[in-house]
Amino acid sequence: MHHFAYRRGVSHANVLHAEEVDLCALAAAVGTPFYCYSTATLERHYRVFAEAFAAHPGTLVCYSVKANSNLGVLATLAKLDAGMDVVSEGELRRALAVGVPPERIAFSGVGKTKEEMALALDAGIFAFNVESEPELRALSEVADARGRGARIAFRVNPDVDAKTHHKISTGKAENKFGVPFEQAVSLYRQAAKLPGILPVGIHMHIGSQITDLEPFRNAFVLLHDLGATLRTAGFAIEFVNLGGGLGIPYRHDEPAPPLPADYAALVNRAVGDLGVRLLFEPGRLIAGNAGILVSRVIYVKQGDKTFTIIDAAMNDLIRPTLYEAHHEILPVIEPMPGTRAVVTDVVGPVCETGDYLARGRPLPELHAGDLVSVMTAGAYGAVLASEYNSRLLVPEVLVSGSRYCVTRPRPSYDDMLAAERLPEWI
Ligand code: PLP
Repeated sequence: MHHFAYRRGVSHANVLHAEEVDLCALAAAVGTPFYCYSTATLERHYRVFAEAFAAHPGTLVCYSVKANSNLGVLATLAKLDAGMDVVSEGELRRALAVGVPPERIAFSGVGKTKEEMALALDAGIFAFNVESEPELRALSEVADARGRGARIAFRVNPDVDAKTHHKISTGKAENKFGVPFEQAVSLYRQAAKLPGILPVGIHMHIGSQITDLEPFRNAFVLLHDLGATLRTAGFAIEFVNLGGGLGIPYRHDEPAPPLPADYAALVNRAVGDLGVRLLFEPGRLIAGNAGILVSRVIYVKQGDKTFTIIDAAMNDLIRPTLYEAHHEILPVIEPMPGTRAVVTDVVGPVCETGDYLARGRPLPELHAGDLVSVMTAGAYGAVLASEYNSRLLVPEVLVSGSRYCVTRPRPSYDDMLAAERLPEWI
């Protein structure tokens, strides 16, 4: 459920709105392309997820900052008391900048540097998700040198197939993430002997855009067994972190993924009897449907195929070409009933054959100057954008009711050029 819908617009036609904001008017004010996020949708998704675990005391929902790290988005979620899952110094700084209490921040990632560890320890974060033995030793050295205790959860790789796109599957033995399940107990024993390390949790994250509960069930059974084994062995396990990964609907013609309530029931059955605190790291589920990418048609090129060339491209939204992802595309002005449908490739101006946002897509006939909205672009959209082809990063706009704020303005070409230096020998 999201808050982007056709409503009567300023110009009387039925216009796609973000909450109460007319997207034609917003495009005129901000220019295209731009990302637009809906506060009401972000809030709703966070609440639906958090409320699914309301009966489990102490549950901490750490929004996964990597999905969308716009400060306006983070501040919106921080106001709801969301914790945050970060994977870099930059993300940690963003979470702290919007006032997330450090004791609600978890730090994941296979390559944390000692500098990042020191910053997180000094800030007093909730826990580190440790992904290897060398990382454990480095963290011990840093924590010990600073006279601090690092609370850790090993990220355990259960070797289960998340049945998602191979580039976003993280819980198979062949993936770079986590420590092998069979080595976990011995690593916990080792951790308990190291100075500065407090092994207090267990972490698992098996992948993203998971639309079937079965992989979660398979992973959480193992998580439960490990939790029970560690407790019997005398470890003071306070929490299990079940990661993120619950999928969202990208297309209207496919069955909807399981609801947070179904996922919560599964979690409860799988690990409820451990009697520990639960942590989650949802990203896509919160931000995905809360964002769109608005773009303008530059040309329609007819031939054997029809190409609709728009001003957004793969550098702005790489998901279609990187993950073969499907995003619905809607004309911003609602087409009149009976408008002809045309099968078209929707492409950008970037000089790459892989630069497309949709291929072979039946869409209402579009013309140069028309606005289109690429739906469900709030997660892994703007965060993955680049300046490829020396294109400017697109602005991000946060809407709330009838108000909007350009939370990240479009840079100028002068800004782009000023960011670089020439060597003195030229
Ligand atoms: N936690 C970790 C460790 C991740 O790597 C990711 C992303 O893959 C997430 C959470 C968020 O996943 P999602 O956006 O699918 O909920």
